[in-house]
Amino acid sequence: MEKNFLIPISRRELLKLAGVTAVGVALGSDKNVEAAETPKPQNFSFNGAQIPTLLRADVCVCGGGPSGTAAAVTAARNGLKVVLIEQGTVLGGLQTQGLVYPAMPTKVLNSDTPYITDLNKRFAMHGINVSFTDDAKYKNGGDAREYTPELLAFIYDELCADYNVEVLYNATLIGANTSGGKISAAIVHTVEGLSKIEANIFIDATGDATLSRFAGVKVERGSEHTGRNQKMSFRFEMGGVEEMKVYKFFVKKLKDGWCETKPPEFEFAKTTHTEKFYYEGIQRGEVTKDDVAYIQAFTILGKPGVMSMNCPEVSPYLYSSTSALDRSKAIRQGRIMIRRLAHFFRKNIPGFKNAYISREASMLGVRESWRIHGKYYMTGEDYFNAQKFPDAVCRSAYPIDIHDEVLNLEKKLAKGEFYEIPYRALITNEISNLIVVGRCISANFAAQAAVRIQPSCMSMGEAAGIAAAYGLKNGIAANAVDWMSIPNRSYVSAG
Ligand SMILES: Cc1cc2nc3c(=O)[nH]c(=O)nc-3n(C[C@H](O)[C@H](O)[C@H](O)COP(=O)(O)OP(=O)(O)OC[C@H]3O[C@@H](n4cnc5c(N)ncnc54)[C@H](O)[C@@H]3O)c2cc1C
Repeated sequence: MEKNFLIPISRRELLKLAGVTAVGVALGSDKNVEAAETPKPQNFSFNGAQIPTLLRADVCVCGGGPSGTAAAVTAARNGLKVVLIEQGTVLGGLQTQGLVYPAMPTKVLNSDTPYITDLNKRFAMHGINVSFTDDAKYKNGGDAREYTPELLAFIYDELCADYNVEVLYNATLIGANTSGGKISAAIVHTVEGLSKIEANIFIDATGDATLSRFAGVKVERGSEHTGRNQKMSFRFEMGGVEEMKVYKFFVKKLKDGWCETKPPEFEFAKTTHTEKFYYEGIQRGEVTKDDVAYIQAFTILGKPGVMSMNCPEVSPYLYSSTSALDRSKAIRQGRIMIRRLAHFFRKNIPGFKNAYISREASMLGVRESWRIHGKYYMTGEDYFNAQKFPDAVCRSAYPIDIHDEVLNLEKKLAKGEFYEIPYRALITNEISNLIVVGRCISANFAAQAAVRIQPSCMSMGEAAGIAAAYGLKNGIAANAVDWMSIPNRSYVSAG
């Protein structure tokens, strides 16, 4: 599991934060005139009237992360015509572009909704058993899942092809046409310029509630106590690792709980720079306190000799996940930190001697940014009370996992208990044909820190696909669908 920690903010850090300045950009002239065509000058309006329609569908899903892909595939599987807009060149969002591996466990039996079971079967068909643990208690679902990023990307393409989802890669959502409490079109930027995607139902799976914000849905961001978002990470992978040498070093030499799991698939992790091993590296000037404030590394199923690094974390005191400029600076800072860490690992961990940076994330690791305020607003109390809902779409016992602020977590879920996520946290009062899924659903800072794990995001997406199909077939608005009345819903509440 990701580990919690606290770094107190100092006066100096606050002053540094206040001193961040804007950067000017100088544009050079384009000298490559020989190959140039003369395109027709655009005359578009942001109200959409003069923007051409690229595609029309029953459902338009914005964002192809774990939640959006699940929503698109499930809606298509239920007979709808679906367009899935993704700004990158791969589906999976943080799972693939962000190199976030593995999927964390829900820690509760029977939490796998049918989409997850199917996904796991697809992995098995490709020769990979994705269950992280052979622990019998999670045999029926709920364990951590090792979705090798490259294979996951391939399987997502396969799923979309099988169910005729129209995937539009390299398409960025840049606006929405909204009137009468409904979205009529998503405005996207593609290689053809600006165009409209028209649909009856829209699903916001951007992670940043981007479509919802364009449509005027109420949103919030960060902690209600500190105003800060969760820390961002810029993840990377290292190849050329001799894994058993690494394991022996941590278990036999450093001892003291570095490895919670055992080979063949294992992790090493420590979350504080006061740890002697890091502290000495800081003293020698090899790494900084920030570089080693949070270190976690996993072997990757299907990629021998490669480790996935859940680090470095970039400080929220300097960079906010809701500022475009800060996000860019965090990437640049992360890249510098990656180089220092790689050097430190090579020098000080046997098994990393010949290791190299084999991949850097192509997406910044944003844990939390904007969250909608929907029909139901989940709070930390829902977690502490193991809240059940009649319109629940999935269950989890994954804890509140905040990178930054430390909450009083003395009150924990009792063993075997779990909470549920209601369909009402995915819909809004403002927009009748919008469903919101993934890490930007209606939840406060603490609740989001629990519901954000990949299995929950996938189950929310699946529920959105089912609800969209049911609503359209029965002439019911997405935000008026009664989840309990859907006969083939993926999950039936335990409440
Ligand atoms: C550093 C880090 C470590 C984590 N560790 C774990 C872990 O170990 N296990 C676990 O289960 N979870 C982990 N999580 C959480 C989990 O990965 C995310 O919460 C989850 O991926 C969110 O899924 P999503 O579909 O909501 O959004 P995302 O995965 O963020 O996907 C959003 C997608 O939308 C696309 N998009 C965004 N805006 C636009 C736009 N305007 N136009 C077109 N496309 C757009 C993006 O390109 C992306 O593909 C971690 C998260 C982070 C950041």
